[in-house]
Amino acid sequence: MIATKGYAADNATDPLHPFNFERRDVGPHDVYFEILYCGVCHSDLHYVQNDWGNANYPLVPGHEIVGKVLQVGTHVTKFKIGDLAAVGCLVDSCQECDNCEKGLEQFCRNELIATYNSYNKHTGGFTYGGYSNQIVVDEKFVLHVSEKLPLQAVAPLLCAGITTYSPLRHWKVGKGHRIAIVGLGGLGHMAVKFAASFGAEVTMISTSPEKEKDAKKLGAHHFALSKDPEQVKALQNNFDFIFDTVSAPHDYNQYLNMLDTDGIMICVGVPPAPTEILGFNLLRNRRSIVGSIIGGIAETQEMLDYCAEHNIVSEVEVIPMNYINDAYRRMLKSDVKYRFVIDMATL
Ligand code: NAP
Ligand code: ZN
Repeated sequence: MIATKGYAADNATDPLHPFNFERRDVGPHDVYFEILYCGVCHSDLHYVQNDWGNANYPLVPGHEIVGKVLQVGTHVTKFKIGDLAAVGCLVDSCQECDNCEKGLEQFCRNELIATYNSYNKHTGGFTYGGYSNQIVVDEKFVLHVSEKLPLQAVAPLLCAGITTYSPLRHWKVGKGHRIAIVGLGGLGHMAVKFAASFGAEVTMISTSPEKEKDAKKLGAHHFALSKDPEQVKALQNNFDFIFDTVSAPHDYNQYLNMLDTDGIMICVGVPPAPTEILGFNLLRNRRSIVGSIIGGIAETQEMLDYCAEHNIVSEVEVIPMNYINDAYRRMLKSDVKYRFVIDMATL
């Protein structure tokens, strides 16, 4: 076993604190790498606070992981010592079911293992995530990242990137489409970048007036405030897609009403409470509401390669590990521009 340092939450309310634990020994198919940076996703905070009622403590969050390979197992073919390596939200799946075979490991029918908070068959406890100095992962779930891009700004692509890229590709968002991105945070800012890069006309809908300038710099063509009834009214029946990244409870009906004929509302945010939808808001204009969760391994690699080719990275605020509890407080106030990334050298 490999002695490892990290940061953990013990319960839903106390601050995260330093925590020592062990990674498994490097198996024949494993890649063992030093974690250099780890992004801070709002899902980390939902888990820590037990917002979804499924947290397993002690909980070491972090699923936007990039670093450098220290050692590889005897059967590893894709990586060698010194390579850059990355891991997102998944570290294992059954690799046999129809969904795994289609590259949809996120929908594995048998044995999906998330990077943290899942049962860990190797140690008997739970998986521990990227708020730590090193990790051991089956090479099938390890991604290559480009040496060309700033590594700290690549980390958020492993969750915020793939979570926005995958549904935009699945629903073929591009030229000739009008899309509204709701919520300018970690996911929202990547959605703006990808949607603009794919050729869509992008409107940012935010609760934060001060984010307008940034939204336009990121690639949004228009900006609207969701708290201003006049601006909301002007957007009725106006979009082919709504892309909802909001982390807190909010009124979905307000956005459904902005969809034009056959419009689709894509939800990736996971507020901790159920929401009510008025039937008429779906019926009118034959609207749909759909969801999406991260993306498969091959598609994650495709997204990373697309980003390298098109020079797309996340806008990050690099923080030391011991700032994490402050970062969470700021995240709850929508004060993130636009992803916190932990510099693991500070652990
Ligand atoms: P984030 O960085 O905190 O951004 C969320 C944004 O939502 C905020 O910056 C804010 O933007 C907006 N917002 C916050 N509270 C709001 C409210 N009460 N009403 C309206 N807008 C509000 O969070 P994130 O990391 O992007 O994650 C967003 C959500 O996606 C979380 O629920 C997370 O768990 C989920 N998620 C899902 C997946 C998936 O696979 N589907 C993957 C990762 C994360 P403005 O200031 O612009 O209003
Ligand atoms: Zn995430």
